[in-house]
Amino acid sequence: TSKQRLLVVANRLPVSAVRHGEDSWQLEMSVGGLVTALLGVKEFDTRWIGWAGVNVPDEIGQKALAKALDEKRCIPVFLDEEVVHQYYNGYCNNILWPLFHYIGLPQEDRLATTRSFQSQFDAYKKANQLFADVVNEHYEEGDVVWCHDYHLMFLPKCLKELNSKMKVGWFLHTPFPSSEIHRMLPSRLELLRSVLAADLVGFHTYDYARHFVSACTRILGLEGTPEGVEDQGKLTRIAAFPVGIDSERFIKALELPEVQDHMKVLKQRFAGRKVMLGVDRLDMIKGIPQKILAFEKFLEENPNWRNKVVLLQIAVPTRTDVPEYQKLTSQVHEIVGRINGRFGSLTAVPIHHLDRSLDFHELCALYAVTDVALVTSLRDGMNLVSYEYVACQESKKGVLILSEFAGAAQSLGAGAILVNPWNVTEVASSIGYALNMPADEREKRHHHNFKHVISHTAQEWASTFVSCELNVTIVEAQLR
Ligand code: UDP
Repeated sequence: TSKQRLLVVANRLPVSAVRHGEDSWQLEMSVGGLVTALLGVKEFDTRWIGWAGVNVPDEIGQKALAKALDEKRCIPVFLDEEVVHQYYNGYCNNILWPLFHYIGLPQEDRLATTRSFQSQFDAYKKANQLFADVVNEHYEEGDVVWCHDYHLMFLPKCLKELNSKMKVGWFLHTPFPSSEIHRMLPSRLELLRSVLAADLVGFHTYDYARHFVSACTRILGLEGTPEGVEDQGKLTRIAAFPVGIDSERFIKALELPEVQDHMKVLKQRFAGRKVMLGVDRLDMIKGIPQKILAFEKFLEENPNWRNKVVLLQIAVPTRTDVPEYQKLTSQVHEIVGRINGRFGSLTAVPIHHLDRSLDFHELCALYAVTDVALVTSLRDGMNLVSYEYVACQESKKGVLILSEFAGAAQSLGAGAILVNPWNVTEVASSIGYALNMPADEREKRHHHNFKHVISHTAQEWASTFVSCELNVTIVEAQLR
């Protein structure tokens, strides 16, 4: 084909691979946001490069896996267990993730990592170099390379060193924190410099982009311009590209008989009560304890609502082998137990808490039948749950209560009730406001958000980023 080739590089390939014998693999595509976004972009011939999530120490296994993945247009990067431990569990998830979400660098339980910081960063660079080598091996002249997320901040530099003509874009899916936070990172200079090697750098919101530019000016002493950052005559373009969802997929799903069945069951189950919904990975950034405490305060202050409202919290297990996440799980269980003990009756409890994920159809049904969605992230790159809720609420016109610290607050702020999740009093009164909101106000707010969600899709996000990356390089070529 003559389509523009696009190499998407992300830590994880969008597949799960299970080995069945020496040279046989079973693959399943996973439908994350990034996959649906890029499947919708038909104008590119897309290939994926990343880690398959499994350790494959032997050459026979590696060859067989590469061959199986090839059919799905995926190319594997092989990482051994020690590198995964230091790069992925260590530097990515224990250092960069908490720092970028304002949790800070390791202290208390995590303090021991302070000493292994340098070796983790070395593993991070080594892993990024391995990704770069695979990209370079499969690169053809004219390809566009799109690197994703905090796992691969070192990649743009590695790629440009291998081939300075390569078009390289990098997008961050988490927040980029204030330069005062980034400044704590021992490797603050190297990371900024390597990201700046890209031609185009993208963030979810204008604020994150601004934070990145001021980190470059304050920490590297470079010049920020309205277009980006300039270093010795070379301009790196920096811009906001807010991601969206495949809204059609959700809207269409609501018509399916199995989704309708789920909806019927849920409606019967909660008849006569208002239902508030929380859907989050069980991560500290999601503010789940804060949300539940606000709900407790609401029940405390509004005895007339006690048997008339229920909070359904879906808490999807994540990083379950990490002690801090285990601690968060028991903390949440304790609060839920206390509140249910305090406000429950023989026939009903105020909080339904599930430690599990739902399948797509169950999730759509829940989004569609609930009255209020409660998103209280303490920090969140975007938060797609809020978008998905809005997409499924065309008939009910439920209310979205949304943390001002989620990227989505920048786009859904006009229709949602924005809250500071740390302010339990404010969240509790917003719950009351949402539950009592008159139909015309609900409709107006929902309409605002719905219009945004259906017109700013994931597909549009991906194609805007890539065309911007292409244009950047065209403009530079003309200047030369
Ligand atoms: N999700 C899911 N199964 C569940 C609950 C949620 O697949 O049981 C999906 C949900 O549809 C959404 C994603 O998980 O697309 C969560 O994305 P979000 O941006 O809200 O938060 P993240 O988990 O990426 O921090």
